[in-house]
Amino acid sequence: MTIKTRFAPSPTGFLHVGGARTALYSWLYAKHNGGQFVLRIEDTDLERSTQEAIDAIIESMKWLKLNWDEGPYYQTKRFDRYNKLIDEMLADGRAYKCYCTKERLEKLREEQMKRGEKPCYDGHCRCSQEQHSPDEPYCVRFKNPTEGTVKFHDHIRGDVEISNRELDDLVIRRTDGTPTYNFCVVVDDYDMGITHVVRGEDHVNNTPRQINIYKALNAKVPEFAHVSMILGPDGAKLSKRHGAVSVMQYRDDGFLPEALLNYLVRLGWGHGDQELFSVQEMIDLFDLDTVSKSASAFDLNKLKWMNNHYIKTLDPEYVASHLEWHMKDQKIDYSKGPALSSIVKAYAERCSTLKEMAEQCRYVYEDFTELDEAASKKWFKANTPEVLTRCLEKFAAVSEENWKAENLHPVVESVAQEMEIGMGKVGMPLRIAVTGRGQSPGIDVTMELIGKSKCMERIERVRDMLAGAN
Ligand code: GLU
Repeated sequence: MTIKTRFAPSPTGFLHVGGARTALYSWLYAKHNGGQFVLRIEDTDLERSTQEAIDAIIESMKWLKLNWDEGPYYQTKRFDRYNKLIDEMLADGRAYKCYCTKERLEKLREEQMKRGEKPCYDGHCRCSQEQHSPDEPYCVRFKNPTEGTVKFHDHIRGDVEISNRELDDLVIRRTDGTPTYNFCVVVDDYDMGITHVVRGEDHVNNTPRQINIYKALNAKVPEFAHVSMILGPDGAKLSKRHGAVSVMQYRDDGFLPEALLNYLVRLGWGHGDQELFSVQEMIDLFDLDTVSKSASAFDLNKLKWMNNHYIKTLDPEYVASHLEWHMKDQKIDYSKGPALSSIVKAYAERCSTLKEMAEQCRYVYEDFTELDEAASKKWFKANTPEVLTRCLEKFAAVSEENWKAENLHPVVESVAQEMEIGMGKVGMPLRIAVTGRGQSPGIDVTMELIGKSKCMERIERVRDMLAGAN
């Protein structure tokens, strides 16, 4: 049997990390088993679905590289198929027309609540002999079995069993003629040959109802895995209040897709005490049966740690392709200056996000006027003009071609020696002069990146400023 899984988001908002993790588990399960992965957009809720949300979901899936083998399918394009089946079910009695008014249903609900019962449809129209005129509005309900139980084995939650008496007759087509989620999802999973339904635990109560519909359609019931929720660090359901929740916001905040995927896979699944997994390792090792059924808490610091790991260890050219987005976002013109991959190599160690990296390397490409006040105060001393002058003299002797960290480092060293001062007393004033800041990668590497002429200009400017002030 070829394994086929799917991700079936409703486009009522952006793709949040909980949805992304469900998509990832579903995708991994297919990949692990050499199967197929389907993307289906469940847009039957016409009022709440938007094109913007569809675009955001697709953009997120592409950014995460959760590529699909089929789709995206759209439920709104399949209404004829659903309606044809509903009509067949009406014709042979697997479903029935329900003429109950909103008022009747509300009253029924109130009475049930008053008696302390769970509100459910009482089956009034299931066996009613009442006559109705053809223009009277009705919805269609599925005839749920009244006897027995529904059982299934959930790959994450274990065995689930519920009595049919607990399940009322579900509306499968609304009065306005649109089919409902619980029906469409079954028809789709059946038509698309889905073997494993991996989805959020908020759907676990729908599953027994859906299994009854599969049976009524004479369709093979797929296997199920309901993934638990992601909580905020305070134990409450993860929400905007906890910071970023949308996948694309993590891109905007400077995370690599590899880091987010690694973080999400670990949030609820593990392999011994291993924390870091390449995508290939995830594919090789992932299994639905080892996914935890308890909710997991989101920990931004751990995600940052993983992001830093991937910034440091993935191919710098690749990381640079992501850094490029942030350079553009922060309007830094990087067209003249070093390749972004050399920025990645120099800054990887010190940045946990690419947003930070773009912020930090701005001075490599752009001139500045302000110098960090605290750093200047701390490091600019009476001898600084002399330090900078000596540096300038020695740097002048280094050709553009030789303007490399390994040739610049000895200059800093020799000035420190000659003046009998510590390296920091040379390096720090230089750093402030060429970067405007008190922190940067090694001064030699930083100066190599900035280039000779800019360094000379900047050092001279600060030297003159300080000499003038004395
Ligand atoms: N469309 C549903 C949702 O976004 C998921 C349905 C399913 O996976 O079966 O919550």
